[in-house]
Amino acid sequence: MVRTRFAPSPTGEPHIGNIRTTIFEYLFARHENGKFILRIEDTDKSREVPGSKEKIIEGLKWLGLEWDEGPGVGGPFGPYIQSERLELYQKMAVKLVELGKAYYCFCSPKRLEEVRKAQAEKGEAPRYDQHCRDLSPEECQARLSKKEMAVIRLKVPEKGETSFDDIVRGKVTFQNSEIDDQVLLKSDGYPTYHLAVVVDDHAMEVNYVIRGEEWLSSTPKHILIYQAMGWKTPYYAHAPLILGSDRSKLSKRHGATSLTEYRDKGYLPEALINFLALLGWSPKENRDLFTKEELIKEFSLERIQKNPAIFDMDKLNWFNGQYIRKLDPEELSKRLQPFIPSDYDSELVKKVIPLVQDRMVTLKDFIPLTDFFFKYEIDYDKKLLLQKDRKGGETREALERVLEVIKKSAWKHEDLEKACRGLAEELKWKPGELFMTIRVALTGRTATPPLFETMLVLGKEMTVERLEEALVKLS
Ligand code: GLU
Repeated sequence: MVRTRFAPSPTGEPHIGNIRTTIFEYLFARHENGKFILRIEDTDKSREVPGSKEKIIEGLKWLGLEWDEGPGVGGPFGPYIQSERLELYQKMAVKLVELGKAYYCFCSPKRLEEVRKAQAEKGEAPRYDQHCRDLSPEECQARLSKKEMAVIRLKVPEKGETSFDDIVRGKVTFQNSEIDDQVLLKSDGYPTYHLAVVVDDHAMEVNYVIRGEEWLSSTPKHILIYQAMGWKTPYYAHAPLILGSDRSKLSKRHGATSLTEYRDKGYLPEALINFLALLGWSPKENRDLFTKEELIKEFSLERIQKNPAIFDMDKLNWFNGQYIRKLDPEELSKRLQPFIPSDYDSELVKKVIPLVQDRMVTLKDFIPLTDFFFKYEIDYDKKLLLQKDRKGGETREALERVLEVIKKSAWKHEDLEKACRGLAEELKWKPGELFMTIRVALTGRTATPPLFETMLVLGKEMTVERLEEALVKLS
């Protein structure tokens, strides 16, 4: 049974890059009829941001990435919040010391700082100088019983190498001599990420660790802990980084990086899932649009790429437009609710939707494209009513005639169009010219949904009123 997990640290907004990887974890678990677990890794209290955990949970729910075990749903291996599991990590850290695979370190922060400085001066990479590595068990016990502050560090073998087969990258090897004697348990009794992640992945029977490439260099440390404990290591798949269009690491400069922002900007969860799933993974079939169910069916770890993926905002916008187009008006009006004032007439919203659905890129576009339907008065520069080389007088006359013909016309698309075209011919105006003047009179702008459909939705009364209003402006 495949078991994957998303293990976010609540240190800020849910990052879009992490969410891409989460989508892989989710799709793989669902494809294999396995379990997808959510675990909150909140052991670094200094980096925790209040409200972040809630935002992560909210974001996953909004995306529809439901988890089988984790906060809110429970499960056989709970609790799923690391700060509620401290005793377990403490026990395991002590066990590693007993096994001779970890050791107590009593070095003060001041000493560690001096070591770091000296290394920096020599141009060396910062690492622990193993000062406490060979203290005798008796000395350690004596100092511990005097309540001296201590951390527990991993005793990384001095020689040899640690390697693993990554599903994406193939065989990856690290020289043990390059690996720091990592702190596993801090002096306040909190574990570091490296200890907690291994203890929990083991305890929760996670057998596929899918995560971003930035964790690759942590993996040998984790493997050493698995080996020290005699535990079976999980399969690893490190997904490629996501870069901005200039090939630098995706950051605020390239646009929003938080999931919440995309939601608030009017992106649809199904569009984001589709778009993100293709950042670093490619389906067999050469096409772009995949529903979540299709992605589940198609997904395989083998098709995750090694090369970095490029986050292309235009592509995301394209996806979003496609998904907006696919919604039926009823559903789209539901999705629009957070983006329109609550006093908007919902029947009118439904009538307007088909006129602009094809032109919306995000849900936020609805209001700027359609506000003239919902306002009583519209404001515009009267110059917009005058077509090239047309004077105020002839434009007024034309609009008077428009009023006349449409008042008489049946309130149907064909009849209105026929009447207006006939009038243009009679007045010797190009239909485009006349239509533009009418469009501006009705909407206050030059780019709008098709004219006669707009008229029909506005209704006869409002159409007449706006034409009269335009005449007043021109007088
Ligand atoms: N808590 C880590 C994070 O913040 C999890 C890394 C991993 O998946 O092992 O992303």
